[in-house]
Amino acid sequence: MTHDPAGLHARHQAVLPSWLSLYYERPLELTHGEGRHVWDAEGNRYLDFFGGILTTMTAHALPEVTKAVSDQAGRIIHTSTLYLSRPMVDLAERIAALSGIPDARVFFTTSGTEANDAALLLATTHRRSNQILAMRNSYHGRSFSTVGITGNQSWSPTSLSPLQTLYVHGGVRSRGPYAELSDGAYIAACVDDLEDMLQQTAGGVAALIAEPVQGVGGFTMPPDGLYAAFREVLARHGILWISDEVQTGWGRTGDHFWGWQAHADNGPPDMLTFAKGIGNGMSIGGVVARAEVMNSLSANSISTFGGSPVTMAAGLANLGYLLEHDLQGNARRVGGLLIERLRAVAAGLDLVREVRGRGLMIGIELVRPGTDERSPEAASLVLEAARERGLLIGKGGQGGASLRIAPPMTLTVAEAEEGADLLADALRTAQGRLAAPA
Ligand code: PMP
Repeated sequence: MTHDPAGLHARHQAVLPSWLSLYYERPLELTHGEGRHVWDAEGNRYLDFFGGILTTMTAHALPEVTKAVSDQAGRIIHTSTLYLSRPMVDLAERIAALSGIPDARVFFTTSGTEANDAALLLATTHRRSNQILAMRNSYHGRSFSTVGITGNQSWSPTSLSPLQTLYVHGGVRSRGPYAELSDGAYIAACVDDLEDMLQQTAGGVAALIAEPVQGVGGFTMPPDGLYAAFREVLARHGILWISDEVQTGWGRTGDHFWGWQAHADNGPPDMLTFAKGIGNGMSIGGVVARAEVMNSLSANSISTFGGSPVTMAAGLANLGYLLEHDLQGNARRVGGLLIERLRAVAAGLDLVREVRGRGLMIGIELVRPGTDERSPEAASLVLEAARERGLLIGKGGQGGASLRIAPPMTLTVAEAEEGADLLADALRTAQGRLAAPA
């Protein structure tokens, strides 16, 4: 096989939409992977600290998943929800039991976008309202309905939404009037803001949707208990709480299996949505909801690809591996070490404003050295410098100034240390370049 990444890039640009953003000045073409490593078309090997935005949950080319997929593909790939499917029922039962939601029902989709879209359909139908509360700086998908609840405006291309959305405080507070408050005072201020907003709405609001840790928003960490406090207000108004667990599910945050558990000791959300990692790269998304909410659609529905036996087989094998090998515990231990190590690196660098993280979900906010100004330029420089050193990371967040680190959850201590060293070197190089006169 001949590889010509530059030629492929030109062909990509000629035939694909301009708004499908690509990383790197010379975009990468990945050809294969193993464990925590991937290789590009030029034969370069990289330590993968981003996993394709958290889709590689356990490891690249995990033999258990590969075998499950190929065995199922060799038997039958026929899809559609018109017939009974053993892998779909098996995975739904496992997810329902793990969800923490009582009397749970599971609907499978093929992406996080479609999962949130389904959750919105359920919530608006159940509550007979198209009013939705979402968080500032949130991201929930790219479809017509989900861009309408995405508070991060650079990912929301149209204001013509079928939903009436109100954006609530609480997702991010690194700057502005809330920055100086204690966690308790901040939560109280956010609750006041929510109550105030509800008083101004004419009819009943259908739901609040929130990511427990904002993903595209830069891995921002709201204080523990924020959504527990919100939940009390929501319950008083009969408003549903949807936890978007597309990035935070399956133990990635270390201390908890779901992100909502860091927030709510007073009970689970009414619905949660999932996607990304569960299929280890195979396209699985879905919604878990109480039966009363899930079954509120009266018209018939069908999904051709949601719950396809091949993706379900991947999900079952991947989830089995994750639980058997306690990858949540690994995320807590190795993620904890990595966060400590990165904080030590950051202490000597003006470029870094903050290292924040839970488990293997770590954000690093960058500023122009010597200022408090977010620096997307620094983030791009570090991304490129890390790649030159054989490390793949992500970026995002407000102003595109945060780095995002979310390696496969089988990450070893040695790999965490190697990655931290490579990143430290990339950060120092970027800081040097930014400090040099233009
Ligand atoms: N919700 C969250 C929190 C996400 O991070 C994403 C994807 N980045 C989505 C929803 C949409 O998922 P998908 O790209 O699979 O449609």
